[in-house]
Amino acid sequence: SREVKLEPSIIDLGNGVSIGGEKLVVMAGPCAVESEDQILETAYAVKASGATVLRGGAFKPRTSPYSFQGMEEEGLKLLALAREATGLPVITEVVNPRDVELVARYADILQVGARNVQNFALLKMLGRLDKPILLKRGMATTIQEFLMSAEYILAEGNQRVILCERGIRTFETATRNTLDLSAVPVLKEQTHLPVVIDPSHATGHARLVPSMSYAAVAAGCDGLIIEVHPCPEKATSDGPQSLRPEAFASMMEKVRAFAAVA
Ligand code: PEP
Ligand code: MN
Repeated sequence: SREVKLEPSIIDLGNGVSIGGEKLVVMAGPCAVESEDQILETAYAVKASGATVLRGGAFKPRTSPYSFQGMEEEGLKLLALAREATGLPVITEVVNPRDVELVARYADILQVGARNVQNFALLKMLGRLDKPILLKRGMATTIQEFLMSAEYILAEGNQRVILCERGIRTFETATRNTLDLSAVPVLKEQTHLPVVIDPSHATGHARLVPSMSYAAVAAGCDGLIIEVHPCPEKATSDGPQSLRPEAFASMMEKVRAFAAVA
């Protein structure tokens, strides 16, 4: 908390990118890694528009057991290939404590998904890693509970924790979740950790992603994590909320009007 550490934590993400300082960090890429062509094309495109971290899921926590579950290690290898090609550090989710070691071998940043925010066994394992962790808030997690989950990682020794607000469940159905933007100033008040906003999962609709991104930057977030897919209608997951590379490019132009991008 701020009581223990007053100054903001600036976290090195690899390849000279850090989060929590003056500059906004934009992480972008597909929901799921689907093929070599798909991840490379997306990686080059998001880099050209100013993203400095590549996202892509290899282990996907799907609501239905019959939905595509991810390419697993093959997907991790493709992320490593895309990192080599573009120089972008990569962020990817670890779903199962059993896979922590495997995912850590390939990833620069490990993501904990909303559904695992209170998987304390997983959090403790990540607390013993020497890699940054992006911890997503659960869809029904209070800010206090969210911070206690972060504490599980910090208490084990890993101080490189990034908090991510990705929308919470409310009665509203126009959006997939309700983006709790006030989480940005509230978290900034209470903790020294960097705060990232995920407008893709928060809204569930690509057309709403740009406006919520600008609002998040205005609210003072340290970073954005955005789903981008070269062909959203063919995406294996989260197509409706994924921006086309061209839409991402024009959004990034406007983001620069609000903030210096890393
Ligand atoms: C994701 O980032 O693709 C994801 C599954 O997000 P969340 O855990 O926020 O639903
Ligand atoms: Mn997704």
